[in-house]
Amino acid sequence: MNFNSFNKLSEYIWINGEFIKWEESYIHVLTHSLHYAGAVFEGERAYNGNVFKLTQHTKRLLESARYMYMDVPYSVQEIDDATNELLKKNNLLNAYIRPLIWKGAGSLALCSHLNECNILIMAQESNPMYKNDLRLCVTPWRKISTDAMPAQCKGSAHYAMMAISEQMARNIGYDDALILDQYGYIAETSTANIFFAQDNMLITPIADRFLNGITRQTVIEIAQTIGMKVKEDRLTLEDIKNYESCFLTGTAAEIKAISSINYDDKCLEFSNIEIVKRFQKEYAKIVGKII
Ligand code: PMP
Repeated sequence: MNFNSFNKLSEYIWINGEFIKWEESYIHVLTHSLHYAGAVFEGERAYNGNVFKLTQHTKRLLESARYMYMDVPYSVQEIDDATNELLKKNNLLNAYIRPLIWKGAGSLALCSHLNECNILIMAQESNPMYKNDLRLCVTPWRKISTDAMPAQCKGSAHYAMMAISEQMARNIGYDDALILDQYGYIAETSTANIFFAQDNMLITPIADRFLNGITRQTVIEIAQTIGMKVKEDRLTLEDIKNYESCFLTGTAAEIKAISSINYDDKCLEFSNIEIVKRFQKEYAKIVGKII
């Protein structure tokens, strides 16, 4: 395998307390989490040198690890400090950051004390512009049931169905997939939460069957400060057909307007992006994004 052919995204990756050169950051092929989808991770973003809601992300990371019975030998403070040091070491101000906790090689048994818990943090330059005309299609795959996997655990096991859904959507010419929950209600997109807007009201699915995103929570706070009402509800595809705006939220995606949702032979269009722009502006102010 030629590791040099990887697109090098930064100089150093923090692994188990050490800064390792990008091109020397390997794991063994028998890594337990690679075989059994047992990793947990975060997606974070630094704006002008500050990681937005870093401690909240780190706490969620450790909470995800607890769901998977992984003992992480680092505290929230130590992981926060390592994240900030990594940004400095790589000279990064605007960055996407990916911490990941995984069980290493040692045994192929599902449960074994030989598979030690590891942690890495990767950071890469990133400062994307808002893109505002995403076209979604509804995937036939449903979100993993809350009876099968904790919804608030940001574990790689969840992402298999998200990845095939996004791939399916792209293969037929859409930007992303809209995913329904186990009962057929609207859940989220492959890596972001979803909102609708009408008049002075924001409407969003109740976040108990999918990740209650940190950006989602921030957008709800913004709505309250700008005097918009927020309704969290179970939503069917039929319920959303008269809403005038739609957008997604996530750390990587930030806030992006959705122009249409397609399913069967139907195309629901969302033409009013003024309200989305308002949220983008407020969000940029809060995170310190220069636009
Ligand atoms: N849902 C899924 C499945 C995600 O991967 C993400 C990105 N972490 C989100 C929602 C949005 O979460 P956040 O705003 O915390 O990034």
